[in-house]
Amino acid sequence: MLKQIATILTASIIATPVLAEVNIYSSRNPQLIDPILEAFTAETGIKTNIVFIKDGLIERLKAEGQRSPADLVLTTDISNLNAIVEAGVTQAVTSDVINANIPATFRDPEGNWFGLTSRARVIYASNERVAEVEVATYEDLTDPKWEGRICTRSGSHNYNVGLLSAVVAHHGEEAAEQWLTGLKANLARKPQGNDRAQIKAIWAGVCDIAIGNTYYMGAMLQNEEQQAWANSVTIQFPILGDNGVHVNLSGMAMTKSSSNDEDTLRLMEFLTSEAAQAMYAELNFEYPLLETAQTSELVQSWGDFTPDSTPLVDIAKLRNTALKIVDRVNFNE
Ligand code: FE
Repeated sequence: MLKQIATILTASIIATPVLAEVNIYSSRNPQLIDPILEAFTAETGIKTNIVFIKDGLIERLKAEGQRSPADLVLTTDISNLNAIVEAGVTQAVTSDVINANIPATFRDPEGNWFGLTSRARVIYASNERVAEVEVATYEDLTDPKWEGRICTRSGSHNYNVGLLSAVVAHHGEEAAEQWLTGLKANLARKPQGNDRAQIKAIWAGVCDIAIGNTYYMGAMLQNEEQQAWANSVTIQFPILGDNGVHVNLSGMAMTKSSSNDEDTLRLMEFLTSEAAQAMYAELNFEYPLLETAQTSELVQSWGDFTPDSTPLVDIAKLRNTALKIVDRVNFNE
């Protein structure tokens, strides 16, 4: 408020129009977002400033409180979006435009966060040692035929916690614990490394299938060393609880400290528009949430799927239950 009065006073004293600006804190690579922000400025005349914060974004927002210069936060994963809301540094937004563009499953019913893209957590399978569509369901991963053949990263990583939360949402806590126990029994090695390290392990013959996010296929194909890993696997889209493929998201939230709600909202709405959605998804090899937006040709070539219909807000609520299960079955040991 004070900041707003100060801005108005300054503007009236010097009697020149204050250029509208939106300040963004992003845990996403700025290079991936820059072209979209340029398009926004070209269309609206509103300038944007982006600060890339790889780690500690929530801590920084909390420490800055109402003095934070940030208007908008861009980040990935429902756990991060939910943690920002729980830290009390967001403000609820109502927008008919965003609500029309982004399906309800992918936004906070209270309006504190909105999804921008989805990322499917799927199966990477060896081209040589696994048949096509051999992993039709996530439940299949506990089949003894996979004993010693599966690789995955830590069970405590957000991506796997999200997947396990979805298993809890469909089957309940007890069945989810049995599922994770069965998965652990089939692991080729202790959970370790990131998603790409699992695909490298398939290429190296350590395991035959791995759990990973789809966009890493795109990222590996762009990397000279990793192309061989990508070419040794095919993506399979399993479904969960007879429903759909587990997806997580990237998204946005308006900060509580934003002193420029109007322009920030305009940027948020722009990010859900057809042009921005197509660009955002294409640059990151993710899936646009706006149904009419184009998915990149490469991403389309991996196959079609129906996402799990569990609202991401429910996945967030089951996070602690999932983390306890990971501990109880000693998944990472
Ligand atoms: Fe990732």
